Amino acid sequence: MKSFILSIDQGTTSSRAVIFDKNAKIVAMAQQEFKQVYPRPGWVEHSPQDIMGSVMAVVAEAIVRAELTADDIAAIGITNQRETTLVWDRKTGKPVCNAIVWQCRRTAALCEELKASHAETIYEKTGLIPDAYFSATKIKWILDNVPNARARAEKGELLFGTVDTYLMWQLSKGRIFATDYTNAARTMLFNIHTLEWDKDLLKLFDIPASMLPGVKPSGHYFGDTDKSVFGAPVKICGAVGDQQAALFGQLCTEAGDVKNTYGTGCFLLMNTGYKPVKSKNGLITTLGACVDGKPPYVLEGSVFVGGAVVQWLRDGLQLISSADESEKCALSVEDSGGVYVVPAFTGLGAPYWDSSARGILTGITRGTSRGHIVRAALESIAYQVSDIVQSMQKDAGIKINRLAVDGGASRNNFLLQFQADILDSEVFRPEVVETTALGAAYLAGLCAGVWKEIKGRGGKLFSPDLDEGKRAQLLDGWHKAVQRALIK
Ligand code: ADP
Repeated sequence: MKSFILSIDQGTTSSRAVIFDKNAKIVAMAQQEFKQVYPRPGWVEHSPQDIMGSVMAVVAEAIVRAELTADDIAAIGITNQRETTLVWDRKTGKPVCNAIVWQCRRTAALCEELKASHAETIYEKTGLIPDAYFSATKIKWILDNVPNARARAEKGELLFGTVDTYLMWQLSKGRIFATDYTNAARTMLFNIHTLEWDKDLLKLFDIPASMLPGVKPSGHYFGDTDKSVFGAPVKICGAVGDQQAALFGQLCTEAGDVKNTYGTGCFLLMNTGYKPVKSKNGLITTLGACVDGKPPYVLEGSVFVGGAVVQWLRDGLQLISSADESEKCALSVEDSGGVYVVPAFTGLGAPYWDSSARGILTGITRGTSRGHIVRAALESIAYQVSDIVQSMQKDAGIKINRLAVDGGASRNNFLLQFQADILDSEVFRPEVVETTALGAAYLAGLCAGVWKEIKGRGGKLFSPDLDEGKRAQLLDGWHKAVQRALIK
């Protein structure tokens, strides 16, 4: 009986395969890291062979661990690092160069020029603020710098894809050439209003339309894997960018649903329903996942230094010996004693946007202890998340329903309780924190008919428990501290 779903999570540093049974329980998992290639300062690449090799290895391992064969898999859902760019030969499948990773800054200067001349047009069409992260300037770079690439592209010999597209193309031996709305929306070439590749932008970036994949909803029957790949053909029924996968995995399918991933940085996404929202606070407008039909719009913002502030406490200041110890240490004091940490180590993003801002520690007295500083550092994560949620609420004119959370630092109960207090909203941490893989599995399973609907899952709910006056006072202190960190 085909009732298992295979989720392939192709991330920035590792590839993972997770197999779910029909109760959406994990039955097996495998993970493999692969090499990061740094050819020059600020440049980041992945070998396409490493991406493919690691995916094949983890899928094989997970299937063996689950004691299944490809015949038992009802559908595959793919989720992937977003924006990372591949260009390959339509006939041979051979990439013309390494994948250019989203983090790569090689096109930063071009993006600065674009910001000055075309920021508004690009924002109007794509919802994005021009940046080297997005695929468009990476494709242009490849066409302009790899010998013969432009001539070959103009003859229709080359194809472009984000990682989802490349995987589907490889797994189907060239029969599937497609992507989904969530990945297309991060290329800076896709019009999020017409849901089509934008002719003006293709002209601006000098990219032939023949290189581009067809764009489908995230939950969609894309086609089958080639029989030779896993021993039997398997349906591919989902492709979705990693953050949108997490949003779907957190069941944030209604307007006002928000998720935050507390990793090294924090990634916040808010479902805003079917009307695009324009941000006044420098948030990105993008597309969310759906099973066939029209995708919802999503507001996205990120915190540069999230869990990384805890690493700094551990490795830089050596105030704690493990990340987990931060919780106990924070709870050893009643409050932060008026201390604020603003971890603007690399500047501040939304809603302040000051790249020259630097970190500060304020409010220190003779009574300040290690506990106060550790507590203030954890609180800084929650304050930054709160600033973004407030911006989203203002931009969308919607009050959030609750904040669904995942990521490494969401283990910290103190942090989540403080988050609920400062947001005055419930914070929900599901039991299964593999929300990215789960989101891709949900999309594939719904599309393949393994599930008719997805039910809410168990988890821990943190309810706000702070009086209004105290909350206002704490937030006021935070905003004053931020003002001191700003330079511009
Ligand atoms: P990423 O995917 O960005 O590598 P993870 O989701 O694995 O991040 O989370 C790792 C981050 O979470 C690290 O920055 C670490 O400091 C932080 N972290 C892990 N455990 C805790 C904890 N108990 N309390 C606070 N932060 C934590």
